[in-house]
Amino acid sequence: MGPEAKRSELIYEGKAKKLYKTDDPNLLVQEFKDDATAFGATKHGIINQKGVINNRISEIVFKLLESKGVATHFVQRLSPREMLIKKVKVIPLEITIRNIVAGGMAKLLGLEEGLILKEPVLEYHYKEDNLHDPMINEYHIKALGLANTADLKVINSVSFQINNILKSFFDRKHLILVDFKLEFGKHKGKILLGDEVSPDTCRLWDKTTKEKLDKDRFRMDLGGVEDAYHEVLRRLEVGN
Ligand code: 5GP
Repeated sequence: MGPEAKRSELIYEGKAKKLYKTDDPNLLVQEFKDDATAFGATKHGIINQKGVINNRISEIVFKLLESKGVATHFVQRLSPREMLIKKVKVIPLEITIRNIVAGGMAKLLGLEEGLILKEPVLEYHYKEDNLHDPMINEYHIKALGLANTADLKVINSVSFQINNILKSFFDRKHLILVDFKLEFGKHKGKILLGDEVSPDTCRLWDKTTKEKLDKDRFRMDLGGVEDAYHEVLRRLEVGN
């Protein structure tokens, strides 16, 4: 199935993306929207061209990760807003990796934003909007059957591997990878990285000025949201 592939029935619409069936039961089309939400979707807005930018940024990141041996759901970009992906059974967890304190960790532990952590922190959050994605631990995950021990082992090691790859990649683009969120799913018994990797899901700061170049500009009403997303793509496209 190539770029001419036709999407058919809409099977899911989330806050930032839509999923469509294709002729192939193993493949879906993921369409990126311009909609932005924050704080459990209580804040909503449109970031002009965000869908186009996040589709392209995710393509660059997924290709990089695949080239380093990380299995992802990415197949190919089809159009400005669409990518072809492998259909997965979503594991209802959000995996957060933090290199520097910000956002939820600053709030939870009363820490100052910008504190450099001695080692990366991995958090599990239960993917449930109504509950605002509460933080859970391995015991919750196993007791509730959200993922088994073997799957969690893979998810943990792949997440740290992704952190190492992306930290140095963004560093070469003069960006600091503060933290990010990953989602995984299962395709034919194999765990794949799913969803997207973009300024919606990563905190990225300019290495020199520490200027925020991610969704925090929208969350905190800092202005210049579209410019920040464009700037991240511009830096990533150099050499890609
Ligand atoms: P925090 O827990 O500090 O709010 O988020 C940590 C990191 O994960 C940030 O980079 C943030 O963008 C990302 N993240 C966490 N939860 C979500 C979510 O539900 N949606 C999106 N787009 N990103 C999230």
